Amino acid sequence: MTEQPIQLQKLHGKVAIVTGAASGIGAVTARHFADHGARVVVIADVQDAKGQEVATSIGSHRCTYVHCDVTDEDQVESLVDSTVEKYGQLDVMYSNAGITASSVQKVLVLDLSWFDKVMEVNARGMAACVKHAARAMVGKGVRGSIVCTASIVAECGMMGGTDYTMSKHAVLGLVRSASVQLAARWVRVNCVSPGLVGTPLLSETFKLREEELKEMMTAVYSESSDGPLTEKHVADAVVFLVSEDSAFVTGHNLVVDGGFGTKFLSIL
Ligand code: NAD
Repeated sequence: MTEQPIQLQKLHGKVAIVTGAASGIGAVTARHFADHGARVVVIADVQDAKGQEVATSIGSHRCTYVHCDVTDEDQVESLVDSTVEKYGQLDVMYSNAGITASSVQKVLVLDLSWFDKVMEVNARGMAACVKHAARAMVGKGVRGSIVCTASIVAECGMMGGTDYTMSKHAVLGLVRSASVQLAARWVRVNCVSPGLVGTPLLSETFKLREEELKEMMTAVYSESSDGPLTEKHVADAVVFLVSEDSAFVTGHNLVVDGGFGTKFLSIL
């Protein structure tokens, strides 16, 4: 992705936070925000070396890295407050940090210690990010936009990953509640639900080596004339949701799966 000409920049002058941006979808979306003219993109993650690397590659004049574990509310509060203190306001929160347990978390053998961890990051962590971003936006009277990453499995069941599926259903509940509560304050809250994207999260879920991951992606998207779903497809959808192009869209779950969701759900 490269910087758009100024008349095409959809996020010109905006201050944005992206959580889980040291890797995968978050890293690509943070870069896309900068290419779309965001004044500053704050990358938040727990992988400090990787997060710093992403921030440096985007450019220190545009992007900065902050350590933030979304399961720790104090850290989320401080991430938001330090951003507002430094840059004047917060316009965009892309709450994207997430983890998965494993594809064998079937209900009959559900490991409840993993269940708690998954819910802590994917549901509770998202709630903390939405809460503090909304507080900052409302406090400054900003027409803000918040987007959470759910998943295609937020709309249906899957063969394994009971805890992951539950956590992503929770994200929909959060977005739907927050959107009606914040509508009159002009803070919009939406979510994006990707299909399978070949990120580290996916290889960890299925314990796949690089070539096995590629094979799986090729099989799932074999009928796609555009190749597999990528981080960039998701980033484009997020830019739409945080920009004025979607000015009257709130409480919506935007599925980005190329129509191949049902195909891969049969193997998950
Ligand atoms: P990824 O593993 O590449 O990126 C996830 C990032 O979140 C990592 O950088 C990780 O360090 C960070 N993170 C994890 N726990 C954190 C915490 N407690 N605090 C802060 N950061 C934390 O995976 P990805 O595929 O890019 O995942 C991004 C989001 O997309 C996740 O919410 C995931 O559930 C969702 N998603 C992924 C897929 C897929 O197929 N890859 C499909 C649907 C939804």
